[in-house]
Amino acid sequence: MGSTDKIETRLFINGKFVESSDGKTFPIRSPTSREVVAEVHEASEKDTDAAVAAAKAAFPAWSALSPADRGMYFKRLAALLVESGEEFSRLEALSMGRPVSTYFDNQAAASTFEHYAEAGYEAQGVSSLNTPGFVNMTFKQPYGVVAAIIPWNVPLVFFANKVAPALAAGNTVVLKSSEKAPLTSAKAATLIEKAGFPPGVINVISGHGQTSGAILSSHMDVRALSFTGSCRTGRLIQAAAAKSNLKHVVLELGGKSPAIIFDDCDLEDAVNETKHSIQFNSGQVCMANSRIYVQDTLANKFVEAFKEQFAKVTPGDPLDANTNHGPQADSVQYDTVHKYIAAGKSSGKLALGGTQDVPGLPEPTQHGYFVPPTVFLHTPEDAVVMKEEIFGPVVNINTFKTEEEAIAKANDSEFGLYAAVYTKDINRAMRFAKALEAGTVAVNCTSPTTARDMPFGGFKSSGVGREGFGHSLNNFLETKTVLIKVK
Ligand code: NAD
Repeated sequence: MGSTDKIETRLFINGKFVESSDGKTFPIRSPTSREVVAEVHEASEKDTDAAVAAAKAAFPAWSALSPADRGMYFKRLAALLVESGEEFSRLEALSMGRPVSTYFDNQAAASTFEHYAEAGYEAQGVSSLNTPGFVNMTFKQPYGVVAAIIPWNVPLVFFANKVAPALAAGNTVVLKSSEKAPLTSAKAATLIEKAGFPPGVINVISGHGQTSGAILSSHMDVRALSFTGSCRTGRLIQAAAAKSNLKHVVLELGGKSPAIIFDDCDLEDAVNETKHSIQFNSGQVCMANSRIYVQDTLANKFVEAFKEQFAKVTPGDPLDANTNHGPQADSVQYDTVHKYIAAGKSSGKLALGGTQDVPGLPEPTQHGYFVPPTVFLHTPEDAVVMKEEIFGPVVNINTFKTEEEAIAKANDSEFGLYAAVYTKDINRAMRFAKALEAGTVAVNCTSPTTARDMPFGGFKSSGVGREGFGHSLNNFLETKTVLIKVK
């Protein structure tokens, strides 16, 4: 597990892999064994500026290509992403503990590049004859240099979700990976090189928020920035954009997603799906249903069945195909989750888990940052664990009596990313679909269920803007009005 020799950890700038200009690196430790698995190059201010300059220089030629000519590179990259599935899953298991048994990200990324290989032609304006004496129209044009800043929880998915539409629209890109999971982005850069993209079109740098993330956010040559990550960082990026060049910013942020369970639901589906939502990726999912509200008439039955299913996870080495519950991504995440578990114990009733470690793990996983599936009941709505994002396998289950009460509790959150309702009553389902304050409402299903061609994003503090097939392209296009006076 400690082998570092084949892992690419350099910066990919202007079509070349380079070491950081000041020689600085940072270690990636396996969250399973705590061993250092890679030393990753940290982009300096000079490196970040060089990446932006390379993207700027590559922009005129790239934006002049037809969507089909850009798409050719995407198709090659998609094929390479599919071929390299095993390597990607190994790298993510090593860096952030994602079980290889649950890895699909390279396939998802490949299909995103496949989609945008064709979708560039959707960049179209409108025409209007509504002003007498004029023929008016709009152009949709790329911004120029786009920055993408991504998190660590499903990095390759976000890599593709941002890079593919930005490039398809004719922009060039600087992507900064997360300091917790930079290895798959660097690996993707090796495939970008193999696919033959012109130098500078995609630049991939690694580093922390300080230095490279902050520089990209306030860079005068970056005209648009797409970010996925925490609300805290989203606010910093928005402020940096406002203080610099008012670059166009898209923010996909955190969540505290409710799932509401009525007593007329399909109980087995509701239990299995809400459990999967909070357990997948060890609860490190923005849209995980971390608050469950069950109708009081079903509460005992639901809680018992939920606990039974949630307790059944198979923790272990994420590289082992039998493991379905990996460690938290690093010591910081582990400590944060435990801080919330301690708070949860003082505000509600611990009904499952809550222990410091997961017993019975074999060497070397017993040193890993594993958190057991944890359930709290009867937690006051204003408790910190009901309000803040925990990002771990920790769920609060509370009860409600009436529809009004369920809606009020579900909406009593600063977040609004995703909400779910389980009921067989179509009228009630539609009342909830309308009333819930969330960018996505799922009926008789829950996260991570999404639809690729439906807009994804947050109400309230969960974000600004929407992503998805048919939606993301517009995030990377300026609209220009052209007025033509006709005599
Ligand atoms: P984070 O905000 O800590 O980091 C995200 C990225 O921002 C990293 O690349 C980091 O280096 C960078 N960054 C940090 N400080 C910065 C700064 N000052 N300027 C510019 N960049 C900076 O988030 P995280 O811990 O990596 O990810 C978890 C969070 O992401 C959770 O809140 C989760 O809900 C959210 N998330 C949201 C979605 C969504 O689609 N809405 C999806 C996945 C994750």
